[in-house]
Amino acid sequence: MADRQTRTPRQLDRTPAEELFEELGPVDRYHDYEELGDFGMPARAMMEDLIPPMSAPERFGPLEKVPFWFAGASCDGCSVAVTGGTTPSLESMLLGAHPGIPRVVLHHPVLNVEAGAHYLRPAEQAVLGEIDARYVVILEGSIMDEVAAYRSGGYWSAQGEEPWGPDGDVRPVSATEWIARLAPNAAAMIAIGTCATWGGIPAAEGNPTGAMSLMDFLGKDYRSVLGVPVVNVPGCPPIGDNFNETVAAVLYFLQGFGPLPEFDELGRPGGCSARRCTAAACAAPTTRKASSPRSSVTRSASWRSAVGARSSTATSPPEA
Ligand code: SF4
Repeated sequence: MADRQTRTPRQLDRTPAEELFEELGPVDRYHDYEELGDFGMPARAMMEDLIPPMSAPERFGPLEKVPFWFAGASCDGCSVAVTGGTTPSLESMLLGAHPGIPRVVLHHPVLNVEAGAHYLRPAEQAVLGEIDARYVVILEGSIMDEVAAYRSGGYWSAQGEEPWGPDGDVRPVSATEWIARLAPNAAAMIAIGTCATWGGIPAAEGNPTGAMSLMDFLGKDYRSVLGVPVVNVPGCPPIGDNFNETVAAVLYFLQGFGPLPEFDELGRPGGCSARRCTAAACAAPTTRKASSPRSSVTRSASWRSAVGARSSTATSPPEA
């Protein structure tokens, strides 16, 4: 199998995200939900409808509640850590209990009740630009080189299927592909855990998956549509409180109510790495990321324009 290290220099002028997007191209077919009918338990019920908010579900900023959680090469330990966080707790964010922070509606492949194609519907709407609000994307686990897998007729890590194959054939959609399609219009891209932030164990020398970090995949100069760089919360597993606190601070900024948290040159929020995170994995990257040629790639306009994204750089909280 061809891997990323053996491709031409011209290909390496692009970020892996751009390369994957160009390989797969735009998509224009989605599931026909009428044809699919009801599936899952309870049929057509969305998690959002099953958790009544504690406060009036009033929208007061550019964000309205939607983080998407994707898992690459992951052991799911980061998910476990987050569910154990208490300041703030995941439950309190799902209930909308924090003033200034939008009620969080989480699309998580383990925690949600939706199943099958119905689970994918919000992600499809985000790709289509049909969500009337900004969304946040969270990655657990490392990104794997799905270009190499695709060219050999396979995939490494899929999250659902879509009719995106030749002639509308249904094919597995990798978590990496969802990330590539959602990142240009995301309000923030957040990597949780050592695998997503530095590549982790799957990025060890000799691993045929070509595993990499989220920042390597998007390019170190990536900025979200609201100007936020890739946010890295490392640790294996990370401290749940560090992650939940970081998400709350970023959401608070995106709503226009607070400053953008300070990040170091590796995208780590200062409070996280300086205050409570004592694990060695938090202190330094464990892979080649900092000196990798991938890290010096700047995102091109073509990838963003191909998905209709706007470009900006955050200097102050966005307008509500
Ligand atoms: S960072 Fe650790 S806990 Fe999280 S997915 Fe990777 S191996 Fe699992």
